[in-house]
Amino acid sequence: MANYIVLVKQVPDISQITDNAFDPVTGTLMRSRLASVTNELDTQALAMANYMKKISGDASAKIICLTMGPPMAEEVLRYSLARCADEVVLLTDRALGGADTWATANPLSFAIRKIATEIFKNETDYFVITGMQSVDGDTAQVPGQVAEELSVPCVAYVTDVQFKNGRFEFSRIISGGSEVVALRRSPAVITVAKYEYPLFATFGRNRWANRMELIQWGADDIKATSVGASGSKTAVIRVFPPGKSARKCQKIDKASDLAKIIMESFAQGNGQAEETADEGPGYILPESRPSNFERNFEGLSKDMDDFAFVCDKLRQLGVSAPSQIDDYLKQKIISESGNRLHRKSLEDMLKGLDITKPSYDGDVWVVAEHSDGQVHPATFELIGKARQLADCLGKQVGVVLAGWDLKNMTQELIWAGADDVYVSEHRLLKEFDPTAYRKAIAECIIKYKPQIVLFAATPQGRMLAPMVSYRCQCGLTADCTGLEIRDRSRLGQIAILMQTRPALGGNVMATITTKNSISQMATARPGVMKRLAEDKKRNGNVIERKVELTQDDLSLEIIQTEKGTGQVRLDSEVIVSGGKGMQNRDNYHRLLDALYSSLKSKLETTVEKGASRAAVEQGFAERIAQVGQTGTSVGPKLYIAIGISGAIQHMIGVANTEMIVAVNSDPTAPILKQCDYYVVGTAEEIIPQLVDALEKD
Ligand SMILES: Cc1cc2nc3c(=O)[nH]c(=O)nc-3n(C[C@H](O)[C@H](O)[C@H](O)COP(=O)(O)OP(=O)(O)OC[C@H]3O[C@@H](n4cnc5c(N)ncnc54)[C@H](O)[C@@H]3O)c2cc1C
Repeated sequence: MANYIVLVKQVPDISQITDNAFDPVTGTLMRSRLASVTNELDTQALAMANYMKKISGDASAKIICLTMGPPMAEEVLRYSLARCADEVVLLTDRALGGADTWATANPLSFAIRKIATEIFKNETDYFVITGMQSVDGDTAQVPGQVAEELSVPCVAYVTDVQFKNGRFEFSRIISGGSEVVALRRSPAVITVAKYEYPLFATFGRNRWANRMELIQWGADDIKATSVGASGSKTAVIRVFPPGKSARKCQKIDKASDLAKIIMESFAQGNGQAEETADEGPGYILPESRPSNFERNFEGLSKDMDDFAFVCDKLRQLGVSAPSQIDDYLKQKIISESGNRLHRKSLEDMLKGLDITKPSYDGDVWVVAEHSDGQVHPATFELIGKARQLADCLGKQVGVVLAGWDLKNMTQELIWAGADDVYVSEHRLLKEFDPTAYRKAIAECIIKYKPQIVLFAATPQGRMLAPMVSYRCQCGLTADCTGLEIRDRSRLGQIAILMQTRPALGGNVMATITTKNSISQMATARPGVMKRLAEDKKRNGNVIERKVELTQDDLSLEIIQTEKGTGQVRLDSEVIVSGGKGMQNRDNYHRLLDALYSSLKSKLETTVEKGASRAAVEQGFAERIAQVGQTGTSVGPKLYIAIGISGAIQHMIGVANTEMIVAVNSDPTAPILKQCDYYVVGTAEEIIPQLVDALEKD
């Protein structure tokens, strides 16, 4: 008999952001100004748990909802009770506040163990079900970390479930397609990426939910080992508004005007690929700087300014080493700073000026992703970034490659910039099984202790990284768009990795650093870091690692894999993509074919048809045509998105496009803020007009 623990979270409602929610000075979003709601994906997880209970035919199974948060998080538990939860647990304590994903997953896991012992009476057949990620963190890390703490399998990115032959079969998203898997053992953690069957509360159930007593636990009740800010392994050091999109976002009223713009822009090639947050090279280790007073590489610009001020003063005073400064000189600097510096901060800065040794040692590593004998393009981008970071640090670039039959991939990794390729080959790694892979990769990291480990923020990387990092006892930052080496000298941190990522649905950017860890780990968004030109003259080492695995290390049985086959030329200069807004397969082909033909003849260039994942799932287009994070990343001169909303997973795949044009019936569709030109209208109305105008031109 299986029971269910659903993890639910209260989050700010980022779908209703008004202008007064932004701080007028810093430009960042103020969370307290936003209403609180239940994280949407968690409501879908709740619906899936309810469905699993129903299809398993076990009416006595229990659904327990667990949340960690302030006392007001009780609201999400009442919401859950009103829908289908049998009991709910509120984990609340000041000591738990300020936690990163590590110190969130840890207490949640201890609470799950307590639920299993006390409520399920030590019954081990249960599923922990949760949304893939929450809108405030967007990390997708907690479920994987919970699975690792509990030493149980994790099935990520689940979109559907069926009950067959006495067990559950889960459909899930993978790079390039989808997969159906079953678990080899329970308990297990399931993360829900999309489940479109909402649950509604009845009036009677609502009344019952409001009367029900909640179970409330504090930190002492669960005896977790890492809680709050002090138990965290990452810290946010800076929050700032995202830069303005480099896209023009210009509304065009008539299809004929759009046709003119397309023709003219294409001829002039004046599109604009999106600026990345990647800030380029430049860091120099303190020991290689002309003077110890050069502190131009601090993490925060305020620190940089303070150091510039203090170092100028020291030079003026003829001081060559911070140790020469006595109380009188300190006081002089403080008073000349005009309240800018306090004694403690000055003393910390002076102490920092004495430190030149980097805080971390070891190489810069990339965890390679591959399938069907091909290295994932994002791996090459990460090697390009790792090369830049390693060169700043005077270290080597290592790539860890786990799988089966890998020999033909090592050379390519070296040509792309790797110095050492660590190969963990085993027959049981033939198919990607997260539990077996994380064991092989973590063992290698634990042995060689690289100072930085980068994973691609693909579905595979985002599933693997939380498990590997938790196993290696290291902090992890998700979905970075900027990675650079900087100092925080006054905190004694030299040559550390600043990890910058979007948060709150892209409404703010945050820079994060790692703490209490041997390696600094991050996943990086595909399409943002730059791949180096292949250098066939490069040499490197291939280090073969023995990996011990048995059937017990496998967690999943792969029942079916659906991946794109066939030929599409997504490297064409023009791509016309259709989304779910095309309404049906006939529209997709009829309208896009017409546009395809006129663009091909008018622009005299290569044109291809693409699709969003939703269009593929609706059966409008073949899987191979899918553009985006789990499809193909493209970089054409012109990308025309028709009936595509602009979900992050789609837009990641078109970031390197020169000019993006959108046609959408919804004037508030997110893509309209991420494109160069757009027309508001239906595909059925606008495409024939656009084709006509192109033909007449
Ligand atoms: C792990 C993971 C990986 C993913 N990978 C990818 C990926 O690689 N690629 C990808 O595309 N998605 C991916 N997705 C899915 C992604 O989150 C979105 O669900 C998907 O991109 C939505 O596709 P869409 O824009 O076609 O559909 P919708 O979001 O449903 O948008 C349809 C749009 O069409 C508009 N519309 C409706 N009717 C009309 C009409 N008659 N004429 C014009 N416009 C109309 C609507 O206003 C709307 O904006 C992934 C999701 C997850 C969780």
